[in-house]
Amino acid sequence: MPRVYIIDVTNRDGVQTSRIGLAKLEKTIVNVYLNEIGVYQSEFGFPFTQHEVNYLNANLQLAEMGALTPIKLEGWIRAITKDVELAYKLVPKIKHLNMSISTSAIMLEAKFSGKFSPKQIIENMQRAVKTGYELGAETIGVNAEDASRTDLNFLVEFAQAAKEVGAKRVRYCDTLGADDPATIYERLKTIAQKAKIPIETHCHNDLGMAAACSVMGAKGIVDGGQDAYINTTVNGMGERAGNADLLSVLLALKYASGFKDLNLLPDNIKLNKIWQFAKYASYAFGIPLPVNQVGVGSNAFAHESGIHADGALKNRRNYELYDYEELGRGEPELVESGRMITVGEYSGIKGFANVYGKLEVEFKDDKEAARILELVRYANVHTQKPLTKEELLFIAKYPEQAKLIMTVTPE
Ligand SMILES: [Zn+2]
Repeated sequence: MPRVYIIDVTNRDGVQTSRIGLAKLEKTIVNVYLNEIGVYQSEFGFPFTQHEVNYLNANLQLAEMGALTPIKLEGWIRAITKDVELAYKLVPKIKHLNMSISTSAIMLEAKFSGKFSPKQIIENMQRAVKTGYELGAETIGVNAEDASRTDLNFLVEFAQAAKEVGAKRVRYCDTLGADDPATIYERLKTIAQKAKIPIETHCHNDLGMAAACSVMGAKGIVDGGQDAYINTTVNGMGERAGNADLLSVLLALKYASGFKDLNLLPDNIKLNKIWQFAKYASYAFGIPLPVNQVGVGSNAFAHESGIHADGALKNRRNYELYDYEELGRGEPELVESGRMITVGEYSGIKGFANVYGKLEVEFKDDKEAARILELVRYANVHTQKPLTKEELLFIAKYPEQAKLIMTVTPE
């Protein structure tokens, strides 16, 4: 039976969004969490963008060292040979790519001013895919931008043409969030049956249905006989009203009435880190979690009204669909209410030793401690926020990569 996989696009769609961004160190910690949670692939950035290059290369080093594995690290580029060539010049070891090109009539007309016919769109895409494989790609996915407003027959043709040149998947981008669950189910089932290629869903939340469209789209793909790859972001961050929220999608696959017996949740998914991840991402983005955020909002397991409180206390299943412990919630958290030492760009060795001592990290000698302290200072210059436990532990464990990640040199 076909399977469902998760491809998280936080480090691409999430960070390209207006007024939302992550420092390269924060993007790295996002990749670490995604790997721990069992996400299949992270769309980790833009390999043709100069300021991403050190971060991307350092994350590929981490993968090579076994520190960021088995997650696949994939870069997003436009489906044009110029981008492919630049990506391989700047990030020579990149193995996985997704290449994007618009397919809808409105975008062909209004974005490209009618410069490309549908036939030429297919030719450009095929040329880019072939170049990608020639330069060393192992897997390439092809993204049909605005697929939800694209003629279905053309999408089938586009997907067949992508398969012909060896693309492993086609991404069906609901770029404007225009689809609904019933429509996307039918469309994706048809494409899967006719083009016989695995398909990615990429749903936006403009109508509040991104997670619903994602799981119904995935079901359509699976029912059409192909593997489905759902694009998500942490806390639903992404362009405009956001993308499909990672946790909402996972919980829907596991607990929704029509899904719970289908076993579509990927086997290796571990939900118990998701609470920590959501909090880290909220801090890194500087965007508080709404109280009613699925699973991780502060009200997600709160009860007050008489009937609900009484019912939940008698048996949690009266008013809770899933357990908070499953998401890693419920452990008491230590919050320092007295003296607090933090580390930052102007810290000295004593405060630094205190902070790392609490994390139970020991240094070989003073030289090593001084080196890590210097990196920690730079990390604070880089993020401009007090460093988190995750970041401090990462820097102590992978100082060489941390240094490279934080090195951004304009040409
Ligand atoms: Zn998008």
